[in-house]
Amino acid sequence: MSRPILATINLAALRQNLAVARQAAGGSRLWSVVKANAYGHGIARVWQSLVETDGFALLNLEEAILLREQGWKKPILLLEGFFHQDELAMIDQYRLTTSVHSNWQIQALAKAKLSAPLDIYLKMNSGMNRLGFPPDQVHNAWQKLRSLDNVGEMTLMAHFADAETSEGIAGPLQRIEQAAEGLNCARSLANSAATLWHPQTHHDWVRPGIILYGASPSGQWQDIASSGLQPVMTMTSQVIGIQHLTAGSAVGYGGQYRASGEQRIGVVACGYADGYPRHAPTGTPILVDGVMTQTVGRVSMDMITVDLTPCPQAGIGSQVELWGNNVKIDDVAAAAGTVGYELMCALAPRVPVIVE
Ligand SMILES: *Cc1c(COP(=O)(O)O)cnc(C)c1O
Repeated sequence: MSRPILATINLAALRQNLAVARQAAGGSRLWSVVKANAYGHGIARVWQSLVETDGFALLNLEEAILLREQGWKKPILLLEGFFHQDELAMIDQYRLTTSVHSNWQIQALAKAKLSAPLDIYLKMNSGMNRLGFPPDQVHNAWQKLRSLDNVGEMTLMAHFADAETSEGIAGPLQRIEQAAEGLNCARSLANSAATLWHPQTHHDWVRPGIILYGASPSGQWQDIASSGLQPVMTMTSQVIGIQHLTAGSAVGYGGQYRASGEQRIGVVACGYADGYPRHAPTGTPILVDGVMTQTVGRVSMDMITVDLTPCPQAGIGSQVELWGNNVKIDDVAAAAGTVGYELMCALAPRVPVIVE
């Protein structure tokens, strides 16, 4: 048998999470966000478990084409639109909905020779200051696009910088409503956090991403613990070595961790080259042989070391869960100073993946 690390993708959990997102979204239509290769889960692997969605939202033309070639006929939204005007030929051919966030894109749309009008999402900057037209330019951009023969259905899109709290969405919502006044436009505003927690943002289309994969938009698992959402990705490996420390002996690079007394340590075949966060400090939760314990010492490229004190029965070959149903990816991420999003997306190509 080869190196024991494995990522398992639970398709039933994915379907369940879509149902939870739908329930939360009420009557709004739903874009399943599958950018970044479905948040590291593999778009080709997972999209068929999400066919109950109304559309898929992503960034790459390549990913959009893959969905079309695999048979998805319903809407696909390019969240950042096109990066160069020559992409419009493919967007036309594959009938993609594109967002429009800058004036140059309006000009490109005006000039393009298309087989039929394209549906567009006009992206407004509601305060995050990333992509989009400032509120006072929305009317003008909308009217310009509306006048183009190349433009079909139009929707106003905005994105929240801080959708965890009501205070975080109040300001942007107000700016959006002001900018949209008199346009009588369809709207798409809500990411996962807004879909779960702020019904006043739902409007016509919601755009959840992270909750489909069973992690928390806030980074705190307890915020979704009672929502019915289930982790989709489980990363497992095995103990491949055992060390017996005596008081004062150190573990791993830099000798950062020192035993205060006798201590049994397990060496696990998983490191930062697999996507485990190098910044995870001593104390990061991990499950060994069914028992919750913690990492000790620095994460190496190919290995991490764990405290076996709570699981004296564990030995070489013992099963380890790095994250999944028992060890929440949000908890590992929080220990490492990041969010579940980053860990999922960083799943390394060298980790074998199976679906169940
Ligand atoms: C990534 C993204 C989303 C989904 O965000 P989640 O927090 O994962 O739900 C929605 N809208 C836009 C524009 C995005 O880029």
